[in-house]
Amino acid sequence: PGLVVAVDGPGGSGKSTVAKAVARRLGLRYLDTGAMYRAVTQLALEQRVDLEDTEAVAQLAERATITPGTDPDGPTIAVNQVRVDAEIRTRAVTNAVSAVSAVEAVRRRLVAQQRQIVADAVGTAGGIVVEGRDIGTVVATDAPVKVYLTASTEVRALRRSRELGEKGVDDVARTLAELGRRDALDSTRTVDPLLVAPDALVLDSTGMAIDEVVDLVLRRCGE
Ligand code: C5P
Repeated sequence: PGLVVAVDGPGGSGKSTVAKAVARRLGLRYLDTGAMYRAVTQLALEQRVDLEDTEAVAQLAERATITPGTDPDGPTIAVNQVRVDAEIRTRAVTNAVSAVSAVEAVRRRLVAQQRQIVADAVGTAGGIVVEGRDIGTVVATDAPVKVYLTASTEVRALRRSRELGEKGVDDVARTLAELGRRDALDSTRTVDPLLVAPDALVLDSTGMAIDEVVDLVLRRCGE
């Protein structure tokens, strides 16, 4: 039977790096569910949909075809067959995504698709590592391995800032403020908020090297 590894946690906690590394080491597929919410957000911004209009956002999500590629060595994301790998990482998308991911109809649609991708990977590829905010609690509640990755807000902001290629202290401060706002929104929304699954291994990566985190997760997978 295939293995499902759920990796949840707030932004900048190292989820993507760890999830991809674990998938690579175990020869599994990799699904970035955050990229799917980002893709819907990118489309909404491009089409100038009012993000407060939940009905309009829901309709947009229902009509769009979001296609995530699940190769851990080169994950991709397309909206209506157009690749938007770089577009979904902009500051504009990052700051708008929490409004879109809080829309119940958007979640219902994406969660159904995510469950299908998980089932396919289990059936054909030996399994999958899935990262997000609600994987262990909603998408794959019976995943045998669940990890909740976290780190101090400062460390997470520094990592995000570095990913964005920022150098100045002001940039880090701004990223820190934006991250705090996004965490708050993601943790307090009414539909599927970010929560620690009761059976998750909680790892605080603040003072840890990525390799150590990866090793701990692999051990949990029976390696
Ligand atoms: O992980 P990433 O930072 O790319 O996620 C972007 C956003 O997508 C999160 O801030 C959150 O609002 C949303 N998200 C979610 N549920 C998931 C994954 C991401 O609501 N499973």
